[in-house]
Amino acid sequence: MASEKGSKLLFEVLGNVDTSNAGPRLGRIAIPGRKDFETPNFFAITSRGVTPHMTPDVVAAHTQFGGVHMALEDFIEKARKGTPPILTCPGPSILHRFTALPRSLVTLLAPRRSPAVTAPVGNSNTAVSIFTSTGFQSVSSKAYVSYMKTLRPDIAISLADVPYGSLPGTKRVAKMGDRTQLWLSELVNEMPEEQAVFAPILPIDFLDQSEYINYVADELADTVSGLAFYDSNVLPDIPATTTIVKLPRLSLDEPSSPAHILRQISLGMDIFTIPFIGFATDAGIALTFRFPRPLPSAETQTTNGTTLLPLGIDMWPSSHAHSLTPLSPSCTCYTCTSHHKAYIQHLLSAKEMLGWTLIQIHNHHIISTFFSSVRESIKNGAFERDCEEFARAYESELPEKSGQGPRVRGYHFKSEGPGEEKKNRAAWGNLGGEKQVGGELVPDEGADELEGKGFAEKIEA
Ligand SMILES: [Zn+2]
Repeated sequence: MASEKGSKLLFEVLGNVDTSNAGPRLGRIAIPGRKDFETPNFFAITSRGVTPHMTPDVVAAHTQFGGVHMALEDFIEKARKGTPPILTCPGPSILHRFTALPRSLVTLLAPRRSPAVTAPVGNSNTAVSIFTSTGFQSVSSKAYVSYMKTLRPDIAISLADVPYGSLPGTKRVAKMGDRTQLWLSELVNEMPEEQAVFAPILPIDFLDQSEYINYVADELADTVSGLAFYDSNVLPDIPATTTIVKLPRLSLDEPSSPAHILRQISLGMDIFTIPFIGFATDAGIALTFRFPRPLPSAETQTTNGTTLLPLGIDMWPSSHAHSLTPLSPSCTCYTCTSHHKAYIQHLLSAKEMLGWTLIQIHNHHIISTFFSSVRESIKNGAFERDCEEFARAYESELPEKSGQGPRVRGYHFKSEGPGEEKKNRAAWGNLGGEKQVGGELVPDEGADELEGKGFAEKIEA
């Protein structure tokens, strides 16, 4: 077991836990050199090594999450031609140093982004397809091990044969467990003993990967430091041996709403990565839910004549332009204690990137508060009842995106080739003709045409 001084991740299940897998649980994660944190909790998702819209000093000053999810494919763009720059960065803690991430935060390194862009070519027996900023390429298990040996993340997710896009056929499914098992054994054999490695659990039925999972349970339960689930539904089928039950469980299952998070917590999931935080921020949606219930004053904010409250507010509509209240009345984040809705609506409509920064700070704070309330609820034995109350109070899905987000980047989507519709609206265009009016050159276009070209919106008098 990993208990020697200066060694790897320690996970402690708090409270009484029998060897049954079922039910929500409390835990604490401790990694030498990083801040301890309690579970259930979440890791922020990074893009190219940063939490989008937030600089490392903003992360240090205004967020509470315990760690970040990073993707190897974001760092090895030049792997084909030469040495990726990150490999020449001096250590230790290369990932922290290269990205200026606060040292107190845990780094988790996975092969692919969350969510990952579907690759045109599938994985092979020895390598997986990844999407770097210079295009698709493959990373072999051997290369993956060598990257992990150099980068030494606090938590390394082993390579998994996960098919993105279409559902795998029967022949493919049969291979997935075998490949993943081989790659996991290659990683744990090569890495120093103190490296925390999480074993991936594949997004297929338990029976289709039972040989692999039994191998992890029988041979590697003392060697791996946790399990990473690409599908949380497999969790209840994991063999409930004493050693396996004590491993922390990470969800890479990409929950699409707080209800999905709660369901996974009820299965016994400990750590989450949550892409919808970033989706909401990019769409200009400020999350507004509280667990288990809204503030009594929030009852008046119902929509569509139903009694269900929305999970967030779309900050684009000009109806917020005169609102001097914070994004969420009870929120204690930097954004809510310093600025009002009108200012944030103004920043979005002016395409000022500070708008997204403020919403991102707030949205991460809402999720941190959500998890701390969930832990309190589990501690009080009220989790099941509180989940029911939450479901009665809030809509099940996030509001639809209405406004325009920040520019879409190449790693957000796969190019469809020539003739593809532009993902980003032109920020500015040609002013068109000009005409001479009283000695001055003025645009020969009305406010409607200018608005159509992405200039400031026309105000209806
Ligand atoms: Zn806030």
